[in-house]
Amino acid sequence: MPNEDFVYDVVVVGAGNAGFAAVHAAREQGVTVGLLEKAPVESRGGNSALTGHLRFAYDNVEQLMDILGEQYKTDEVRSEFAKRLPQRTASELWDEIMLVTDGMTDQDLLKVHIAESYRTIAWLHSKGHDWVPSYEDATTGNIVHCEGMGYGLQERNFAICERDPGVTIHLPDRGARSITRRHGPGVWRRRHDVQRLGSVPREGSRVVKWWVRGQPGDAGPLPRPALG
Ligand SMILES: Cc1cc2nc3c(=O)[nH]c(=O)nc-3n(C[C@H](O)[C@H](O)[C@H](O)COP(=O)(O)OP(=O)(O)OC[C@H]3O[C@@H](n4cnc5c(N)ncnc54)[C@H](O)[C@@H]3O)c2cc1C
Repeated sequence: MPNEDFVYDVVVVGAGNAGFAAVHAAREQGVTVGLLEKAPVESRGGNSALTGHLRFAYDNVEQLMDILGEQYKTDEVRSEFAKRLPQRTASELWDEIMLVTDGMTDQDLLKVHIAESYRTIAWLHSKGHDWVPSYEDATTGNIVHCEGMGYGLQERNFAICERDPGVTIHLPDRGARSITRRHGPGVWRRRHDVQRLGSVPREGSRVVKWWVRGQPGDAGPLPRPALG
């Protein structure tokens, strides 16, 4: 496509969840969007596809019921939620974030983040993302998670935009599909979970291997095809 012209009202760079949120928001205004992603199809999804849990504040059962997939909207689930609340209230989420960032979070931004967190999740739900009950995760304390976790989120984001005529996604190898392979209901295989950066000599002659979590496409230039 090197000589093809593309004209959009809005161009979004990066097809992570942040990019897709920008696309969804732009589409609410009825404008056309070009989404440029530099990762090839087999590793598209960004770090968003590696995310396990989207934490947000909630304080009542109905808020959680409202974002579930239809099949989970049962009395049994409602009563399981009721047993477990209060859980991850705004003040708990505040403490959690301040704890893991060692108090270095910008508090003005954190106020906005927490105040808007449930509304954002409900908005994502309105775009086609369901949450499912998840009571067993002792690490995060979550009692719901996004269906398919980050991979599910990103697979759906791509699918939603691919069937929207107002959105054009440009990948280096546009035409291929699917960032994930689904292995049975609700099970998603993680790919590119770790990316090897290299080895550096440390502690005398010992070589310490450094690994970083993230997608291979976290650095580097835009693909030429995306810019035309
Ligand atoms: C292993 C792992 C686990 C995580 N777990 C959690 C978790 O449990 N909960 C949580 O809240 N957060 C978690 N995070 C953090 C979370 O994934 C990120 O904060 C979030 O995904 C960032 O979203 P994003 O859309 O900004 O970036 P990304 O999802 O990384 O998307 C950025 C996109 O931009 C593309 N891109 C980059 N440069 C260019 C360019 N020049 N041109 C075109 N495209 C470009 C990239 O290829 C990528 O697709 C985790 C991160 C990792 C790596």
